[in-house]
Formats: sequence, structure tokens, C-alpha cells
Amino acid sequence: DDEFIGFATLPEQVHRKAVKKGFEFTMIVMGETGLGKSTLINSLFLTDLYKDRIVGSVNDCLSRTVSIEKKELEIEERGIKLKLTVVDTPGFNDAINAEESWLPVVHYIDRQFEQYYKAESGVNRKNIIDTRVHCCLYFISPYGHGLRPTDIAVMKLLHNKVNIVPLIAKSDVLTKAEVKRLKERIMKEIKENQISIYQFPDCDSDEDEDFKEQDRALKEAVPFAVVGSNTVVEAGGKKIRGRMYPWGIVEVENPNHCDFLKLRQMLISTHMQDLKDITADVHYENYRAQHIASEMS
Ligand code: GDP
Ligand code: MG
Repeated sequence: DDEFIGFATLPEQVHRKAVKKGFEFTMIVMGETGLGKSTLINSLFLTDLYKDRIVGSVNDCLSRTVSIEKKELEIEERGIKLKLTVVDTPGFNDAINAEESWLPVVHYIDRQFEQYYKAESGVNRKNIIDTRVHCCLYFISPYGHGLRPTDIAVMKLLHNKVNIVPLIAKSDVLTKAEVKRLKERIMKEIKENQISIYQFPDCDSDEDEDFKEQDRALKEAVPFAVVGSNTVVEAGGKKIRGRMYPWGIVEVENPNHCDFLKLRQMLISTHMQDLKDITADVHYENYRAQHIASEMS
């Protein structure tokens, strides 16, 4: 149990704020069916390793997701409680009418804003339960040559409502060179199609070189190439989360194998507060302005 998630290592100031405000974080996964969304959620939050620390219902991630499923975990680390909500979606199938599957997700995000707005305008504004979605992990297929038309349509529907963090799913099916090429292609297409994904904030100039280098590496890794696994395998006497192939093991938490650690680090530790701030200051304000405008007309 020397394995820990890392939110307890948030910078001191953010840390204090988080403890005071209560630490709630909600994210949603999107993307085609079968790209490993449920598996990655499981890998990200170590649901099996953290079994005894989880409060609330945790559904079996292995069962096929047929509707929007909310998983609530309460994790405690070094005295700090994190209430984490992960919204798993069935995703869409490119071949069938995709619209039907992603609209409920868009509505879900809107509904959380609506609830927050109502609560905020109400009498008891002190203890609002904030269920707004702070981040959307968007899974892109490793088998294509970039974004599919559906990806573009869905991301455009989401980008003014939620922080989109794009991922290359199942990156173990690609070679290093293929990953690099696909990343470049995806970023180019995101730009060309004017999709606004989550922008990592600029690094403070007074940070040390190590920190700056880490920050640079993080930004360069987008879209994060991930690998998920529900199985713990043995390698060299150590138990690791990985995928076993006839030729060897792909290790989920090995930075030479994929960007999983980078993703987890940014979500749970370095960028969690920023994702929450952007949600409140940009996406929620967007919703609020539109809502007020529509009420007046
Ligand atoms: P979802 O429909 O997006 O939730 O996908 P699932 O998590 O249910 O995974 C679908 C299938 O892909 C399962 O057989 C998983 O074992 C497999 N899978 C999940 N993640 C990965 C991965 O990173 N690499 C590979 N090669 N297969 C994966
Ligand atoms: Mg699923």
C-alpha cells in the first residue's frame, strides 16, 4: 500500500483551499464503444487496489456499459478526502446512428449546470453539492488515421460545456512511430476544425527547471496515448498492472510504454484545481449567460 494516487501532494495553497472547500471532482468518459473507457477508469482509480477505501457503490467495470453510469468513490489519502465521481457512458458506434447515444451525455452535462444554477439562485447557497462535470476524457480510436467525422461532431457539441482531454485509446496496438504520427495528425485536425480542447495553463516563470520540463513534457504528450488493464500481472517479482502478450508485457504505469501516468498525474494532482476553475469560470458562466438570455427573451 505504498501506492498512492497523489492528490495529497497538491501545491500547498491549492491543497489548503481544497481541504477547506471539500474536494469534489467529476469526470466523464466519451468515445466509441469498445475503446477501453471502462477499463481505463478502473485502471485510473485503482478500484480493486483501493477497495477498502471506497465509499458508495462501485459498479463492476467489466460489465458492458449500457447506460450512463455514475460511479462515486470516496478516497482518503494522508487525511484528505476526495469525492470522485466518474460518469461512464456506453459511447457510440460509428456505424449506427451516433446521435442517439451522445445526446444523453450532452443533456447530462447541461442538467448539472441547471441544478447548480437553481441551487445558486436559491436561499440555501452555502452547501451546494457541486455535480458539474469538470473534465471529459475523450477516447480516439487507434485504428483510424485521425479524428472521425463523429469525433469532430461530438467534440464540437461538448467543447463549450466541458474541458475536453483527448486520448488515444489502446495505444499498445501502435508502434512508437505510429503513436507520434497519430498525435500530430489529431492535433492538426483539432486545430483545423476549431475544436477547443482543455488548454494547459502557462507555467509560472519562477518555477524550477525540473517543474518546467515536466510541464513541457505534459503539454507535448497531448493527446495522451493510454493503455488500460484490469489485470495485475507479475513481472520480475513485482505485481504490476499490465497487458500480457506472447512477446512481453505492456505496463500501464511505465512511462516508456504509454502516457497513463502523465494523465493520472494531471487529473488527480497537478491540474485538478485548474480543471475545476475553468469549469466554474468559463463553462458554467457560458451556461449562465445563455440561460439568463433565454429567460429574458
Ligand atoms: P468501452 O466500451 O469503451 O468501455 O471498452 P471496455 O473497457 O469495455 O474494453 C473493451 C475491450 O477492449 C475489452 O476486451 C478490454 O479488455 C479491451 N481493452 C481495454 N483497454 C485496452 C487497451 O488499452 N489495449 C488493448 N489492446 N485492449 C484494451
Ligand atoms: Mg464501457
